[in-house]
Amino acid sequence: MENKDLKFIDIHCHYDNLSLEVLKAEFAKGEISAVANNIDIESYRKLERIRRENIRGLYFAYGIYPDVVIKEGLKDCLNYLNIILEDTKKIVAIGEIGLDYKITKDPELRREQKIVFEKQLEIAKENKLPAIIHSRYATKAVLDILKSWGGFPIILHQFSGNEKEIEIALDRNYYLTIRFNKPNLPNIKEHLDHIFVETDYPVFFEEEPITISDIKKSYKLLANENNIDLEELKEKINSNFNKIFLKKE
Ligand SMILES: [Zn+2]
Repeated sequence: MENKDLKFIDIHCHYDNLSLEVLKAEFAKGEISAVANNIDIESYRKLERIRRENIRGLYFAYGIYPDVVIKEGLKDCLNYLNIILEDTKKIVAIGEIGLDYKITKDPELRREQKIVFEKQLEIAKENKLPAIIHSRYATKAVLDILKSWGGFPIILHQFSGNEKEIEIALDRNYYLTIRFNKPNLPNIKEHLDHIFVETDYPVFFEEEPITISDIKKSYKLLANENNIDLEELKEKINSNFNKIFLKKE
C-alpha cells in the first residue's frame, strides 16, 4: 500500500530559474521533496528568494561549483563563500561543490579548484553537514582528497568512477546518487542504505527536457530495472534522508 508520508526525494536539483508559482503548485501536491543546490552567487540569490517562501518539503544546499573558480577567479570565489555559507542553519547540506577536470587542464586552475573545494569541506566538517560532491573527469583526484576528510556525510553525486572506485567509495561509507538508473551499481540491492536519487534538473532525458516531477520517473526506473519494490525504495531513501540530512532516525 502506498504510504503518503513517503516522498519522492530529489537530493540534487537546480531550481533557481523556476517560478514560485510552479514550485508552490508542484510541492502542494505533497508527492515530491527536494534539495535545491546553488552553484554560484547568482543562483544563491535566486534560491534565497525561494527559500524565504518556506515551501514545505523544499530544502537547500549551498556552495560554490568548481566551474565558478575558472570563470570568476579564486579571490571572488572565496568572498562569495563568506556570503553563501555565512549562516549554515538555513541549509541541510553543502553543495554543489567539488572538482571538474573537464573544464580545465591548467594545473594552476585545478589547484585553485582544490582550494575552494577543501575550504567547503572544512565548513561541512565544522557544521557536521553532508557535502554533495561533483567529480566530473576527476574521480581519482576527488577520492584522493576525501581520504583525509571525515566526520560528516559525503555524497558523490553522479559518480562516474570505475568498479574499483565505486567499491572504495562504498567501503569508505560514502553515499552515491542515482539519476534515471545511472550509474548502474553492481548489487545495488545490497547498498540501498548508501543511495540517494536525483534528477539534476534542468537536464534532458531521452532527448526531452525533464520537469521537476520527473524525480518520480527516476525512482521508478531504478526500481523497475533492479527488481526493487517502489514503496520499499521510497522507504529506504526517505530513511536515509531523515538520518543524513535531517539528523533524525
Ligand atoms: Zn548539479
